[in-house]
Amino acid sequence: MYSGGGVVVQWYQQIAESLKSQSPVLTGHSGFSEYLHRFKCKKSPSCICDPGCSEFVLHVLLDYPAHDYKRQKLECQLDVILELDSLSELVYGNNKDLFLQFCIKVCKIVNNRNGI
Ligand SMILES: [Zn+2]
Repeated sequence: MYSGGGVVVQWYQQIAESLKSQSPVLTGHSGFSEYLHRFKCKKSPSCICDPGCSEFVLHVLLDYPAHDYKRQKLECQLDVILELDSLSELVYGNNKDLFLQFCIKVCKIVNNRNGI
């Protein structure tokens, strides 16, 4: 489903690494259930929205239903649909700061929910 999303995952990891000192909640993938499960810190890799769906960065940014409002607000601001094909433009384009702010907001929510 997310083939080709590697650029975003790599970008996210770079951003998270660069923001560690400013934003302790952004520690790579540490707050996502899939990552926590991999290191035996959580029973299941599943997201709370669907037991059959792993919680990882692309799911949280693109699909997680509780972030629909924030996602739609960003889409209206940028006049772009937030989907896998538009991520490269968002990551490297003129609006990367707004996209980064969205990423930080939603990742903080996930990290808080997962006790990170
Ligand atoms: Zn979910």
